[in-house]
Amino acid sequence: MRIAIIGCGQLAQMLALAGIPLGIKFSFLADEGKQTDTQCVTGLGEIVVRNGHDTVEQLYRQLHCPDIVTVEKEHVDASLLRAFSEHCEVHPGHKAVSVCQHRYREKSMLDSLNIPTAHYAYLSNAQDMMSVRERFEYPFVIKSAVNGYDGKQQWRISSEQDVKNFLAEEHQGDFVVEQWVPFYKEVSLVAARDKRGSVDFYTLTENLHQDGILISSVAPASDISDVNIKTLQHYLTNIAEALDYVGVIAMECFVTKEQILVNELAPRVHNSGHWTQEGAYTCQFENHIRAISGLPLGKTKLHSVTGMLNLLGTKSPPTHLLTDGSTLHWYHKTSRPGRKLGHVNFIAESRVNLEALMKQFQSSM
Ligand code: AMP
Repeated sequence: MRIAIIGCGQLAQMLALAGIPLGIKFSFLADEGKQTDTQCVTGLGEIVVRNGHDTVEQLYRQLHCPDIVTVEKEHVDASLLRAFSEHCEVHPGHKAVSVCQHRYREKSMLDSLNIPTAHYAYLSNAQDMMSVRERFEYPFVIKSAVNGYDGKQQWRISSEQDVKNFLAEEHQGDFVVEQWVPFYKEVSLVAARDKRGSVDFYTLTENLHQDGILISSVAPASDISDVNIKTLQHYLTNIAEALDYVGVIAMECFVTKEQILVNELAPRVHNSGHWTQEGAYTCQFENHIRAISGLPLGKTKLHSVTGMLNLLGTKSPPTHLLTDGSTLHWYHKTSRPGRKLGHVNFIAESRVNLEALMKQFQSSM
């Protein structure tokens, strides 16, 4: 069997590293035009750089006629996915990707499923801000409807002056305005849904972000009741069913004193699920490959208290800091300040020990 992955980043790398032992071969499709960094997947399979002239049939052949096409990012051309589906299976499908890659389409779907989100409004262009302004209190956030990730393409608005500045910058495209949520914790739920529609969940994860970028995760999340966890599982099951989803999907949430709000969905393996490589019986990468290949899902159960620390802008792999409770995953990307270059997973016997291990690692960096 051969799987082609659209994208050549660290998620593609870890998907291939999980799938190769299952006897699966991989090909990767890199974006055209840009300075494409394909180092993450070098040596793991054929890398095809898309050029604007190739037809989908030619691309399909260059990728060695894969049985399945999958994605490692949501910002892919949904029409390309639809075109690939004429030649082979595509998971997740173009409809699911097209909903999740546009914040307003995603929020509309969540509304239709009665899933609570932050109070929001849609702006078909930046100037529409003036007509919805009165519906929000400071602070709020304006997010580009497409192409935002890791807190990019977002503007936090705390005053009338910020609104004026945003308008003066003449941003193009459409947007979603969201009330700032006074959460005390962010959590995420990662699930795998197989071809028969059966869904397995990983343990709820607690996440720490700074400036919109994930810094660290810990599983299990503390202080979330079983009832709330069941409710989140129910939401994600409904979402995956509505999207006719096959593969791994992640749901990020804000926990406030009153309720849990869904922030956004990722139609792919997710950074907040990287801990599953060491902390769960079957990691999210293997389960994505199993789900899309029609294999039975592996056990998602957590076997140790686990944490993950992203290595942002780190110049070289910090192997000298490893201990018997930590594992390094280095992506082989070119180092740039703030860039995700690897992560370290930690396992421990208790949350207290885990936090001490993670703190010690961070302070030695
Ligand atoms: P997003 O790209 O929507 O996932 O946002 C990235 C991060 O920014 C989130 O994980 C939060 O830490 C923060 N953030 C985004 N939207 C809001 C909001 N409406 N209220 C509070 N924090 C937010």
